Amino acid sequence: MAATRKVRDSAKSKRSARRRGAAGGGEGKSKGKQSGKPGIEYSEAVISNIIANGGASKHTVPDEALLFGATVSALGSNINDMHYKAGMSVGKSLYKVSSAANSYSSTEESVDGLVSFLKAAGHKNTTYQAFPDKVEITMHRDGAPKIGANLHSFEAGVMSGYLSASERRHVPVSEVACAHNGSDRCRFATVSFNRKPVPDSRKALSALAEHIAENSRTANYYSRSHGEVSHVYHSLSAPLLGDREYSEQMKSIAGYLGNEVGGKLFNSYNKNRHGNHVVDIAHTIRLLNFGNPIVESILPFHMSVAFDELNSKKEFVDVAMSFIDGLIMSGLRTSVQATERVEDGSYVVDIKETNLRERRK
Ligand SMILES: [Zn+2]
Repeated sequence: MAATRKVRDSAKSKRSARRRGAAGGGEGKSKGKQSGKPGIEYSEAVISNIIANGGASKHTVPDEALLFGATVSALGSNINDMHYKAGMSVGKSLYKVSSAANSYSSTEESVDGLVSFLKAAGHKNTTYQAFPDKVEITMHRDGAPKIGANLHSFEAGVMSGYLSASERRHVPVSEVACAHNGSDRCRFATVSFNRKPVPDSRKALSALAEHIAENSRTANYYSRSHGEVSHVYHSLSAPLLGDREYSEQMKSIAGYLGNEVGGKLFNSYNKNRHGNHVVDIAHTIRLLNFGNPIVESILPFHMSVAFDELNSKKEFVDVAMSFIDGLIMSGLRTSVQATERVEDGSYVVDIKETNLRERRK
């Protein structure tokens, strides 16, 4: 399933990159025998596509969905490093694509290629300063919710991979300050931390849950929360979900978070308004961009969630379902059974209440 989707995505990206006259034909012409790693060609196609579109992506990831993914991955013991490494491999591919289209005569010029890409991917307000011995990159983000953790290790990895390829030596990059962690902007520098700051997971998840709950209550059922980061860029970190340890950790954190959000959403008001809770659950699912929730029945509870085509990977659905399960358990205080099916290449999950006895009068 996942493999089929990957091929289709890749084909699609390549096609549109070509149609738009991709800057610098680096698009996935697999030179030589490099195709031992299946992800690389896909990355290069996506990268070319992002550069060619110049940031005019139709499909963006809502801010809350990004925040969810970034926070959950910042808190797992190894997954933060895995994100950094995934970023590095994207950064290396980016340099390959970008340097094939432009000839860079200095570090400064080459950093410009990196920053243009980050802007096109949706980090629109990104600036940099390049010195002979160091590079500093800043992403300006107004109104970023305070989570208490540095969330951009994937981006730090992209920068490190790119600069390492450009300089032909290992260049570490650290996010030395994050807009989600007490700073007014995200600052990246070519240094490595002596001691990496370890976030307080419980506090961070509680802050994130509070933010999600607050936004779910005010969410518009019919329109998605907006965001600027392109979905295909975001998808570059998705292959990690194929790693068992990674997806297990993601699932367990997501389940915990679902519980927290449920607790904050439902305990504060209208304890007995079951119908409202069901609507809030649908809002939350939509806010996090898991897909399209349809309430089939309120009592007994029955909801179906059609996952987006881009999110229809088994591992992603599992992480999302772990969250949704936690949310429903703490929100409706009932247990549910989920059954998955695939329709037109996308996942649809049916969630039905199982212990009806408690509800009967
Ligand atoms: Zn940050």
